[in-house]
Amino acid sequence: MSKQKISNWGGYPVVESEIIKMNHPGTFSGKRGDTIARGLGRSYGDSSLAETIVDVTGIDRFLAFDDETGVLRCEAGVSFATILEFFVPKGWFLPVTPGTKFITVGGAIASDVHGKNHHKEVCFGNWVSEMKILLASGETVLCSPTEKSDLFYATIGGMGLTGIILEAEFALKKIETSFIKQEALPAENLDTVMRLFDESKEFTYSVAWIDCLAKGKNLGKSILFRGEHANLIDIKDTPFANTPLFYHNKGMLGVPFNFPSGSLNSLTIKLFNGFYYMMNKMKGSGITHLDPFFYPLDAIANWNRIYGKKGFLQYQFVLPLSNSRDGMREVLQAIAVEGRGSFLAVLKLFGKQESMISFPQEGYTLALDFPIMPGLLKFLTKLDEIVLKHGGRFYFTKDSRLDPDTFKKGYPRLAEFLEIKKKYDPDGVFSSRQSKRLELT
Ligand SMILES: Cc1cc2nc3c(=O)[nH]c(=O)nc-3n(C[C@H](O)[C@H](O)[C@H](O)COP(=O)(O)OP(=O)(O)OC[C@H]3O[C@@H](n4cnc5c(N)ncnc54)[C@H](O)[C@@H]3O)c2cc1C
Repeated sequence: MSKQKISNWGGYPVVESEIIKMNHPGTFSGKRGDTIARGLGRSYGDSSLAETIVDVTGIDRFLAFDDETGVLRCEAGVSFATILEFFVPKGWFLPVTPGTKFITVGGAIASDVHGKNHHKEVCFGNWVSEMKILLASGETVLCSPTEKSDLFYATIGGMGLTGIILEAEFALKKIETSFIKQEALPAENLDTVMRLFDESKEFTYSVAWIDCLAKGKNLGKSILFRGEHANLIDIKDTPFANTPLFYHNKGMLGVPFNFPSGSLNSLTIKLFNGFYYMMNKMKGSGITHLDPFFYPLDAIANWNRIYGKKGFLQYQFVLPLSNSRDGMREVLQAIAVEGRGSFLAVLKLFGKQESMISFPQEGYTLALDFPIMPGLLKFLTKLDEIVLKHGGRFYFTKDSRLDPDTFKKGYPRLAEFLEIKKKYDPDGVFSSRQSKRLELT
């Protein structure tokens, strides 16, 4: 089989891999060893890259749905976009969704993705009740909180290292409309936005966009968005009153080619930030469709190309609640001093979560995008030190550069996870470029 160049959403790193397309669940055969599952490649770094990649997007059938409880069983290659297109018009929505709908169910479980509702509804894995997994031995097993529970909990957030998820069962949530009651609240600095997050704890969804280039008394200047699903009564006087569950996935704009590297620099980011802040400050509150609320970037296909051919790194960390204020201030100060603005800088508040290997812990998380430019890696090492000093940790699914020690410090249950991996994959068949770099496999 010939090799193919492939990368994930950040465009870095690019590797040459054999890609095996899995079409019939449980029947994959190919080179075993140095093998990892891949969904839609929306992880930013190297977590779904390996010598041999098993492309799971071909197994994409809905298997069962209970319209009393909202429990859906489907194959792992089904995308969130497909679920939305089919189920939103019937009054059901995803329990947890990240900032893009172009991910698979398998990818959502393996990264244990979070959304804007973590403080109330935790991660996607929390809603999963059963999985069917293809183990390294070729055996297919069912696991749940009561059956092979060690495998179940290690697979949630386990980055594909325990086996290939073939099917999953999880609950959707009932909605009356496909609209969101949204408020956009400007915050002049970090203290204000953190106060707004505290005051918004009862809202199901909250997220803030930060202007990373703001300095001094405006350090942490942001817009906080909060929202709730709109009920029929909320849209009765709007043009959507007759189409409350309107949904379609069509009509995306696209970026047809890679922008020249360097198009996004501190000047263009400053201009964008100023415009975005003013626009949302004026916009205030209102009813919006769920797509622009949850997936603003999905409206532009291949938006990652604006970073140019060299690609970009996404940097996401979480700090414990008690250290979040000081730690975030220090990180933002370092970014502002360096003048290395991030085009996208997203702040969220995580609630409490007990899990083996998933990223979230109670506290604030910041996600930043940096175009690959000279000096970036050195600068990020400086940020790593600040994050570790404040007891934070990094998100697997965004990472492509951390060293093993820096990464492992944040995950106290890693040894337990690796024991379970060894039990179900004694010969180390499943490993990714990331798991090798981080010395997990
Ligand atoms: C614009 C954008 C916004 C995002 N916002 C968020 C966010 O708000 N919150 C968040 O948590 N994440 C976010 N992400 C990250 C994204 O949700 C995760 O990386 C997700 O895992 C991608 O799913 P995928 O199907 O593309 O998987 P891939 O990127 O292909 O793989 C990701 C991981 O899942 C494993 N995997 C995939 N399929 C399977 C399977 N069937 N069995 C076993 N393992 C499997 C892979 O081995 C790999 O370790 C965002 C990404 C983008 C591009």
